[in-house]
Amino acid sequence: MEKIKMTTPLVEMDGDEMTRILWQMIKEKLILPYVDLKTEYYDLGLLNRNATDDQVTVDAANANKKYGVAVKCATITPNKQRMEEYPELKQMWKSPNGTIRSILDGTVFRTPILIDAIKPVVKNWKKPITIARHAYGDVYKAVDMKTEVPGTCTMTFKGEDGSEKTLSVQKVNGPAVWQGAHNKLSSIHSFARACFQYAIDTKQDLWFSTKDTIAKVYDGEFKAVFEEEFEHYKADFEKLGITYFYTLIDDAVARVIRSEGGYIWACKNYDGDVMSDMVSTAFGSLAMMTSVLVSPDGKYEYEAAHGTVTKHYYRYLKGEKTSTNPMATIFAWSGALRKRGELDGLSDLTAFADRLERACFDTLNEGVMTGDLVNLVEPGYPVRRVTSEAFLDAIAAKLG
Ligand code: NAP
Ligand code: MG
Repeated sequence: MEKIKMTTPLVEMDGDEMTRILWQMIKEKLILPYVDLKTEYYDLGLLNRNATDDQVTVDAANANKKYGVAVKCATITPNKQRMEEYPELKQMWKSPNGTIRSILDGTVFRTPILIDAIKPVVKNWKKPITIARHAYGDVYKAVDMKTEVPGTCTMTFKGEDGSEKTLSVQKVNGPAVWQGAHNKLSSIHSFARACFQYAIDTKQDLWFSTKDTIAKVYDGEFKAVFEEEFEHYKADFEKLGITYFYTLIDDAVARVIRSEGGYIWACKNYDGDVMSDMVSTAFGSLAMMTSVLVSPDGKYEYEAAHGTVTKHYYRYLKGEKTSTNPMATIFAWSGALRKRGELDGLSDLTAFADRLERACFDTLNEGVMTGDLVNLVEPGYPVRRVTSEAFLDAIAAKLG
């Protein structure tokens, strides 16, 4: 059988530990036999980031900007413990995801993969809920302090043009804690554009929620920016029959729980942090959560939402055949190949991405699955725990 041709290379970002092992297996068993794969390869494994002084991450992100579509393996973000584990590290390198996100100025969309045998904790959820989390500012770039004596706190902005604006925060008669947070309008606009773009790409409604009744200026600005940006996308939304819907965060939470799913929920940074963990847990498993970084000018980076699954990797190194779930990483590949196919007008490639995902679902629906899913399956559905390798072989057998 002739392999499917590609025209533009996919930016391939390799990673670390167990997911690096799965990465290789997925390529060998599920992609290379069918696709004449064209990639520009960047090794984002920790040791190569260290060897290149992290230049490889910057190069990979720039390639993502140039070609438009990337697929990324999970990577280690070094911490103190990793510095001891890898004594050769020249410094505690920053999170590659953070670096790529800031170069692409992107928003992260996380979507669960649903199967019949695993029911969400919220029983009326029938379709995935995608969380779009704004990834800049607010409490994550805030400064805070504690004071001990009675007094007054003020907040002053000094413009480079010499202007000044001062606000009294509060007068207190005892010890207190304080926080100064900010966001940039450019970042809020990028966030809004990425959300509208992604809603159009995936033909889903977009919900956005803040607390603008309380934070009238701060959250009010978020609401206003979304309204302003929506004007540019309104015609496309109408053509697709999708809607943009703004509501207060507390109202949104109630509506989300009562909904059937099947939409994108855009959240401010903190709300997104909290709600994405709630939504992913309620849908089942982190190993079944995909993630895509979308820039406001339509560049895409697909990955799994989970990490490098370190504990499994150590068992793998001891010679054990692990039962690590490759679903989210396979879907990162299928998502990236599908997008490449759409952008380049390669219907064979798009169809292959669909076929690959179908083969995964068929395999799971027959009960063939990795250990993490076994205990989540509802009574009455078939279950057989297999290793990662056997799971991939079962999918490959369906691809034929
Ligand atoms: P993790 O790799 O997501 O794994 C945490 C636990 O979740 C695992 O020990 C495993 O539980 C379960 N799990 C996650 N993915 C699974 C899968 N595909 N199949 C089966 N079980 C899965 O998180 P972590 O252990 O906190 O982080 C490990 C490394 O990943 C860290 O160095 C961190 O910096 C990095 N990380 C990278 C990214 C990224 O690149 N996007 C994201 C998060 C973390 P059991 O052990 O109970 O089986
Ligand atoms: Mg979190």
